[in-house]
Amino acid sequence: MGKQTELYSGKAKTIYTTDDPDRLIMHFRDDTSAFDGQKMIQLQHKGATNNKFNAFVMTKLEAAGIPTHFEQMISEDESLVKALDMIPVECVVRNITAGSICKRLGVAEGMELDPPTFEFFLKNDALHDPMINEFHIRAFHWASNTEVAQMQALTFKANGVLKQLFEDSGILLVDYKLEFGRYHGEVVLGDEFTPDGCRLWDAKTRKKLDKDRFRQDLGDVIESYQEVAQRLGILS
Ligand code: 5GP
Repeated sequence: MGKQTELYSGKAKTIYTTDDPDRLIMHFRDDTSAFDGQKMIQLQHKGATNNKFNAFVMTKLEAAGIPTHFEQMISEDESLVKALDMIPVECVVRNITAGSICKRLGVAEGMELDPPTFEFFLKNDALHDPMINEFHIRAFHWASNTEVAQMQALTFKANGVLKQLFEDSGILLVDYKLEFGRYHGEVVLGDEFTPDGCRLWDAKTRKKLDKDRFRQDLGDVIESYQEVAQRLGILS
């Protein structure tokens, strides 16, 4: 199935239509961005690394009973996915404090959260993705009550699967962001799961192995993504 027209180009991925209205092609580019696109560079091999990483995680989630849009990898840096009607919210689960929760609540980085937290954010770069709650989602009709409940349940279900998956490779899943959409009436996991949208720390040293290396100018960004992929057995 070949690419037809460009449907949307985001900060790190470009989405193309195909001759099947129910299928899209997701191209992972080498671009990496932070702070709503204010900081942007190209990292060689990032597109291919993230494409493989995403395929691996989505396949694990699907096998655990979480419906995903992922169909198959079609090249080094492209995957075929189901065309979803995206719900414009981000679902964030945190197992350990880091990032925006530290600033917002004035708490130190690295505190274990038991139980984990769940937060919704509105997908809106111009507004810097503000935090919202279920009442905003219902009042502005971004999603129904049932869809809200499904997004929460599926995001937590993914936490169980992914925490263990990373833990088995000596990595802590600190937090992550998921996005969902509708596919023929069903709530399905869309977008991507890569080190661009989660925080991963080495379990022993707590070394950061995710996009915070880029956000915080820590260096070795792609090398860290590849290290995680190697530990998970995605890259040899
Ligand atoms: P925070 O709210 O601390 O900035 O982010 C929480 C988690 O969600 C982090 O793992 C972060 O990478 C991810 N996340 C939140 N918003 C975005 C976003 O707009 N894009 C990406 N790629 N990840 C995000």
